[in-house]
Amino acid sequence: MRLVTLHTDGGLRAGIERDGKYIDIAVNLPHLPSSLRELLELGDVALGQLQQLLDRNERPTFVRGPVRLAAPIPDPPKVICIGLNYRDHAAESGAPIPAEPVLFSKFSSAIIGPEEPIRLPKVSKEVDYEAELVIVIGKRGRYIPEQEARQHIVGYTIGHDVSARDWQLRKPGGQWLAGKTFDTFAPIGPALVTKDEVGDPHQLNIELRLNGQVMQRSNTNQMIFSVDKLVSYISQVVTLQPGDLIFTGTPPGVGFARKPPVFLKSGDTVEITIERLGVLRNPVVSE
Ligand code: MN
Repeated sequence: MRLVTLHTDGGLRAGIERDGKYIDIAVNLPHLPSSLRELLELGDVALGQLQQLLDRNERPTFVRGPVRLAAPIPDPPKVICIGLNYRDHAAESGAPIPAEPVLFSKFSSAIIGPEEPIRLPKVSKEVDYEAELVIVIGKRGRYIPEQEARQHIVGYTIGHDVSARDWQLRKPGGQWLAGKTFDTFAPIGPALVTKDEVGDPHQLNIELRLNGQVMQRSNTNQMIFSVDKLVSYISQVVTLQPGDLIFTGTPPGVGFARKPPVFLKSGDTVEITIERLGVLRNPVVSE
């Protein structure tokens, strides 16, 4: 299933995309919660009802007219990010291959959806792009063994780890938080695609285009730490819960490592494609 969040006259509502058309879950199954995060908290029972809605012979009611998508999970409890999870990206960043996952985070206030503008903060001159596969957690857990990690993953979406390099790399203390969590620095979407439709998360082509020009092109088979390892590792530290997002790191080709460096500017358009997940497109504007 391709689960989405729709802008409607009644506010943000969970939906399902099928063949380019959208189903408002609240219209078809009014007893279910209208937020996708709350729906995930109900687990397999709710997902089973959504699947039945698609499978049954009487047709579900589709939304008429144009649809505007929001971030599939606009209100994640946690946004956890992994740094340096592709060998070539570690090399281009001048960083050693990490022996353990490098963790940082973004606040949920950074989340935006498809087509929403990335706003360049007036206090940064070095805003960069990073295409990433994002894990969406569906089941609560702590100390999750690697072999059980998939049971806690509901699906995947595309994420853009927008990064102000001047704030990430040249501020006191050596922390990445500030540079990574400016407002609008976590575009996600267009859909949360359930794991049954994605198949092997380590065999997905990933590509980022800046104004139509390919800047990053790789495959998730190049990751250093698997999605299972990441879920297990992070769950040693925090309880993972439904709706939590894990950005799994970016492949090589980022702007600051280029000669000359490339940074985002007002008027740019960034598109990220991940096989089976779709295209996440965002314009760039000045604050
Ligand atoms: Mn990243």
